[in-house]
Amino acid sequence: MRWDGQGVRVDDGALPGLQRIGFVRSVRTPQFDGITFHEVLCKSALNKVAAASMLPFRYTVNGYRGCSHACRYCFARPTHEYLDLDCGNDFDTQVVVKTNVADVLWREVHRPSWMRETVALGTNTDPYQRAEGRYALMPGILRALADSGTPFSILTKGTLLRRDLPLIAEAAGHVDVSVAVSLAVGDPELHRDVEPGTPSPQARLALITAIRDAGLDCHVMVAPVLPHLTDSVEHLDALLAQIAAAGATGVTVFGLHLRGSTRGWFMAWLARSHPELVGQYRELYRRGAYLPSEYRQTLHDRVTPLVAKFGLAPDRRSFRAPPPVAAGPVQPTLF
Ligand code: SF4
Repeated sequence: MRWDGQGVRVDDGALPGLQRIGFVRSVRTPQFDGITFHEVLCKSALNKVAAASMLPFRYTVNGYRGCSHACRYCFARPTHEYLDLDCGNDFDTQVVVKTNVADVLWREVHRPSWMRETVALGTNTDPYQRAEGRYALMPGILRALADSGTPFSILTKGTLLRRDLPLIAEAAGHVDVSVAVSLAVGDPELHRDVEPGTPSPQARLALITAIRDAGLDCHVMVAPVLPHLTDSVEHLDALLAQIAAAGATGVTVFGLHLRGSTRGWFMAWLARSHPELVGQYRELYRRGAYLPSEYRQTLHDRVTPLVAKFGLAPDRRSFRAPPPVAAGPVQPTLF
């Protein structure tokens, strides 16, 4: 039928992994060419973080699984394998949407037993990826948290956050709110290749300014720094200068880690786009997922004077998982 390609298409042939998490239907629309949304009804919205993770928050909410931002290095990729989907193209194009997440969260954070601990948004997939333009899960999530007196943090690469700035600014009048933008690649060509589904660096710099104009602090995650691609003094100097000029209030910088199946996906991209670096990466990551302590110390020494030069406040809050302490004697480069 002529309108088949224009309307919502329903496909009941869900994978067993999706059936386990409350699958309702799969949807494709012309506005999201190449992407399939798998709508599910979740039973719980709050995810409790294991104490051993040493993260600065104990609860997260993720309305989506999979992310069309498609960063080659995304450490959340292996989570798709629990759904019988792969960590590569499926992660980028098969996006699970918890359509009832705001309602479920509202019930959870209004229970008398809820202790109003900080909830982190954007720890596993980007809450303002393109799907959010269709499903608009975040306004309901933000209202549930603010109305219940629950502090929250947001980390995103998505400029769609602008839509919710009035809501976020209003929430900040009632609860502690932290907003962070992820921006680690300043070179436009490399950006298109390594983060192909994300807004441009310039668009994210403008987002930082918009967040500040809304009266909010804006932290910037300059992570992951890619060895031999974005770790030069010149690149970091230019990027931090732009971030500071955009109005950022602080930065966190740390290098790439390659856990689980993300490693294979990233290395395949590297072999295609930068084959000359494959040997150096194999050497850097020969002991595992994390950069060796010597490299991290070098990066730390390189970044420290630049952070001071641009007056970017050192800030040890982390919106995302840093490398574990067990990775080596030198702590990750966190500002
Ligand atoms: S925006 Fe974040 S969650 Fe999405 S693909 Fe990139 S690193 Fe992964």
